[in-house]
Amino acid sequence: MIDFSKLCIHTQTTKPWSIEECIINFASAGVKGISIWRHLLKGKDLNKIKSLLDSNQMDVVSLVRGGFFPSVDPKKRLSAIEDNKLAIEQASAIGAPLVVLVCGADSKQSLEVSRQQIKDSITELIPFAEKRKVKLAIEPLHPMYGAEKSAILTLRQANELCEIINSPWVGIAIDVYHLWWDDQLENEIIRCGKNKNILAFHICDWLANTLDFLTDRGLMGEGCINIKQIRKWVEAAGFNGYNEVEVFSDRLWAKDQKKYLKDIKKSYLNYS
Ligand code: ZN
Repeated sequence: MIDFSKLCIHTQTTKPWSIEECIINFASAGVKGISIWRHLLKGKDLNKIKSLLDSNQMDVVSLVRGGFFPSVDPKKRLSAIEDNKLAIEQASAIGAPLVVLVCGADSKQSLEVSRQQIKDSITELIPFAEKRKVKLAIEPLHPMYGAEKSAILTLRQANELCEIINSPWVGIAIDVYHLWWDDQLENEIIRCGKNKNILAFHICDWLANTLDFLTDRGLMGEGCINIKQIRKWVEAAGFNGYNEVEVFSDRLWAKDQKKYLKDIKKSYLNYS
């Protein structure tokens, strides 16, 4: 069945495009959902961006990204809180219901200490987020990012953290790239769904001979992730939101982005 009603694309997937180009080109390709990366908003009038989104009937799925909470330096932890407050305000201004959190890690301290700081920082942000009706989605990252990008490295750790925080304003973004290898994935998805904590679902593929752990992701169907299976688990756990295509790839960014957008739609239909 040809159904693009749940297709969302991250602006970083078509990195060569400006925010305006993403909105206009996604909309004219029949893509309804957009997840917006913050650097594209730098220096922009957010009211204008909101009007452009509205006039193109685009649904803003999330703002990406906040987080990066832990640090051995207390000043840096404070400035991370301020930056996350700004992200929440930006999300509210453009009509994004959630901010995705890449939680952060500091290699100068243990993962346990980083996780404690993540918990404290998110807890501190909850009243601010609640007031602006913006949710916070913890995104567990692949363990290869444990040194600097995230101390939350499995869905189990994200579930535990959410259960401790226990707020309707904090949930989880499930990304197949980070979690596909986990033999406890199905159980943890069920657990996440029971807690009503699945806030987002990100898709792409893992290339078997990947050249770079950051910028060599595959389009769905190019790699080894059983995306259809994971999507089934997520939907069976109660999630019925967008499937967000989030691909970082030097190879694909080098393509004509309008042609690439057609490939994304084809790959979405066939492999997710
Ligand atoms: Zn993601």
